[in-house]
Amino acid sequence: MGLTVKLIAHTTRAERVVAAAAKLCYSASPVRELFDGLDDDGIGGFLAKLRDSGHVSPFEHAGFTFAVEGVSRVATHQLVRHRIASFSQRSQRYVAMKGAACVVPPEISQNDEAARVFAESLAASRAAYEKLSALGIPREDARFILPHGVETSVIVTMNARELLHFFGLRLCRGAQWEIRNVARAMLSLAAAEAPGLFADAGPSCVRGACAERRKSCGKPYKNTKEVLEDK
Ligand SMILES: Cc1cc2nc3c(=O)[nH]c(=O)nc-3n(C[C@H](O)[C@H](O)[C@H](O)COP(=O)(O)OP(=O)(O)OC[C@H]3O[C@@H](n4cnc5c(N)ncnc54)[C@H](O)[C@@H]3O)c2cc1C
Repeated sequence: MGLTVKLIAHTTRAERVVAAAAKLCYSASPVRELFDGLDDDGIGGFLAKLRDSGHVSPFEHAGFTFAVEGVSRVATHQLVRHRIASFSQRSQRYVAMKGAACVVPPEISQNDEAARVFAESLAASRAAYEKLSALGIPREDARFILPHGVETSVIVTMNARELLHFFGLRLCRGAQWEIRNVARAMLSLAAAEAPGLFADAGPSCVRGACAERRKSCGKPYKNTKEVLEDK
């Protein structure tokens, strides 16, 4: 089916919630006054100051839930390493994987001989899965023969602080291509809803020095827009 990422829910007025939470730390005013008193034009600048100063815990008040489909288990294995998040992933114990689709890396699909080898191996895996199932082997065991690239679906919820961390790691040019595609789609959706929260999101080079140091690719992104446009 190919990768699709959708933003299925998020905190309403997320930028305002984060900004009001931060203002509360420095003000004796009632919360309602702080929330309503925020000036739309000033929120982005205030959120940028919070990020620059490291006062990022208020970003935890804004949650974003994404549906990620047509993604490989290779990529979701990387995704679920992020611990400050919630996940629900399609089970290979409860859902039969007969004829399961598989993500084909572009390096393979663009190489005729490699694509042939891949397709043959995938067909053999699928056939073996079916034979094992026909022999009465339970799904939880038959699935061991499936390739790592088999497609799956996952719903992931992260708060904005964790998203900024996730984008920092997974949008670096050094990250693996498929998790970068997932992260880029998530950033694009989140930034469209709450631009002030994600104005300088992306790898460390967007904001200054490269965190990869000696392993730096030497091609720093100038800004978040460039990260989003890098396909
Ligand atoms: C390019 C790249 C290559 C990678 N290669 C490998 C690899 O070869 N092998 C491998 O196993 N992993 C690899 N990883 C995964 C990596 O080690 C992390 O597990 C993953 O990126 C999750 O990031 P995290 O631990 O910073 O953050 P999250 O789990 O997203 O947590 C966010 C932050 O919360 C804090 N935190 C969370 N849990 C704890 C805790 N228990 N104790 C203290 N602080 C905590 C940390 O500050 C952490 O940075 C790779 C990641 C990248 C981006």
